[in-house]
Amino acid sequence: MQGAVLYGPREVRFEQQEVPKINKATDAIISLSATCICGSDLWPYRGIQPIAGPTPMGHEYCGIVEEVGREVRNIKPGQFVVGSFATSDNTCVICRDGYQSSCVQREWMSGAQAPFLRVPFADGTLVPTKDLPPKELIPSLLATSDVLGTGWFAADAANVKPGNTIVVVGDGAVGLLSVLSAKQMGAERIIAMSRHASRQKLAREFGATDIVTERGDEGVARIEEMTKGIGADSVLECVGTQESMMQAIQCTRPGGYVSYVGVPHGVTLDGEHLFFSHVHLHGGPAPVRRYLPELIKLVLNGEINPGKVFDLVLPLNEVAEGYRAMDERRAIKTLLRP
Ligand SMILES: [Zn+2]
Repeated sequence: MQGAVLYGPREVRFEQQEVPKINKATDAIISLSATCICGSDLWPYRGIQPIAGPTPMGHEYCGIVEEVGREVRNIKPGQFVVGSFATSDNTCVICRDGYQSSCVQREWMSGAQAPFLRVPFADGTLVPTKDLPPKELIPSLLATSDVLGTGWFAADAANVKPGNTIVVVGDGAVGLLSVLSAKQMGAERIIAMSRHASRQKLAREFGATDIVTERGDEGVARIEEMTKGIGADSVLECVGTQESMMQAIQCTRPGGYVSYVGVPHGVTLDGEHLFFSHVHLHGGPAPVRRYLPELIKLVLNGEINPGKVFDLVLPLNEVAEGYRAMDERRAIKTLLRP
């Protein structure tokens, strides 16, 4: 088979790879119905996050189970499944508390930008659907695997409640689906911070009531003005830079909640500033596995359409162009068809 391998900054090759095999009795092999490129793939792509050597890319996936190891009980060949970027046994104390992305047996998935994928701890990691889903729902089901699951965690971790005023910092795919998640959880006012016309439009489609184009101190001042000097109940930080994190904390009212789901790069917080900001902070790698059953149900029932976030669809062999388009911000998110 052929899959995407990152060799260095801006060098993605589509090259020959071994078809994955069952390594452990708890593994499954799936054939991918669709895969995609994550905003977090751009950190190593841009050389900001160094790689040790040639790295098979991709950690968002859904597809059909081809084969399972002899200890796999709940996942069967022929089923359609979705899994998370972090594997989980779904039985340890951390998993049972809903933090499967920090499972004691966690492995980070990679190599999903390929036709076949090995998934460790299949029983704990994968969620099957009852029937094979219709083709047109595949993009939305793929979105639950990471980008929606992460946006959902952003809203959940920021304690979004009906009637709340919330702010979303970041208009990447996760930020946009955080808007959708907050809307679904009943937020009344959803302020999306975005400077790009196409992203503003999608934010509004997903439920944003207001758009703020200012950033940094100007952005904070704008939110203050819009909330009568109080700040927002919840702020969802979906970028991972110093500026976005400070913006998030400063936009939040005392007693409010900040979630952060963008992988931080060079973020440092000042203890005294944090102390007097009086906010709750809760973030990290999203425990997508906790939300998958619910999110899959919402998609299958037609209640949400997160697949709209894919504004570029390419055959898998054009994966390098998919990266370029996202790097140059010509595309919000690229879906790849094996
Ligand atoms: Zn666990």
